[in-house]
Amino acid sequence: MEEKRIINCKVTDPNKILPIKYKWAREYYKQGVANNWVPEEVNMQKDVEQWKAPNVLDADTRRMILYNLGFFSTAESLTANNIVLAVYNHVTNPECRQYLLRQAYEEAVHTDTFIYCCDTLGLDPDQIYNMYHKIPSIREKDEFVVGMTTSVLDPHFSTDSVENIQRFVHDLVGFYVIMEGIFFYAGFAMMLWLMNRNIMPGIGEQFQFILRDESVHLAFGSDLINTIVQENPEIWTPAFRQKIIDNIKRGVELEIAYADDCLPRGILGINKTLVAQYVRYIADRRLQRIGLPKQYGDENPFEWLSESMDLRKEKNFFETRVTEYKTGSLSWDE
Ligand code: FE
Ligand code: MN
Repeated sequence: MEEKRIINCKVTDPNKILPIKYKWAREYYKQGVANNWVPEEVNMQKDVEQWKAPNVLDADTRRMILYNLGFFSTAESLTANNIVLAVYNHVTNPECRQYLLRQAYEEAVHTDTFIYCCDTLGLDPDQIYNMYHKIPSIREKDEFVVGMTTSVLDPHFSTDSVENIQRFVHDLVGFYVIMEGIFFYAGFAMMLWLMNRNIMPGIGEQFQFILRDESVHLAFGSDLINTIVQENPEIWTPAFRQKIIDNIKRGVELEIAYADDCLPRGILGINKTLVAQYVRYIADRRLQRIGLPKQYGDENPFEWLSESMDLRKEKNFFETRVTEYKTGSLSWDE
């Protein structure tokens, strides 16, 4: 019997999911299902009061919230489109495709989350959904990802040579490691920092659920990349590894520029220097996760981030409602 391969599996049937070879893909699928949630489960009452009150939130806090809504509102659908239009086509393994379908659904939930936030807060959709054109630091992140992932969107592209498999892995690093693993994380830190101070706690909780999902997307993407490299070791040349490292470093620069723009003056205990340190810290983790050396060596300035999920669980239990599904795991990979 022909061995299953993660890509270029022309011999085995893409509908034949059993027996499963890549057990991690199956596990991520189950974890995604266990983490199920919808935005309407989160109470936005306090956020509406704070947002509409004339002097609860200062101008800098409002700017930080709007910039993050502006980036995420369009980034989620960009990610969904990438999965459905580019990644799915070339990952021929059925257990990985099962996970990709789940991930696509989660991106639809995330897109819905920002519709819900705009609706409940009464935000101007034209303002929020045009920020990725109008705000240079947001536009540059999106353009970088779109530009880095053009090969696989080409209808004539196929993973039929060493060079083309390298292109595919290059683009997967763009989708998973840079977009989902770096470009989402300054925003997570900022919004969860607010939530921990009871500022816009509903939006914070939405971001927390998204973070839990994204950490699974990132883990899947990293295992996908690592497996392609393992099965096609000839692609992993020193020059190609350096190209990937350079792309990740450019992503770090863009994410730090975005954080500077979101948070130009710093707000009570969080500032752009700390966020930049956090971005470098997570970039090192992302690099190591795909077998590349650390580039920065920063310590994590936001240890509290990894604890905030547990705090939220108690809060939901005692004060509001249980939003956690029975089997949902509360751990995530930062
Ligand atoms: Fe998402
Ligand atoms: Mn995602």
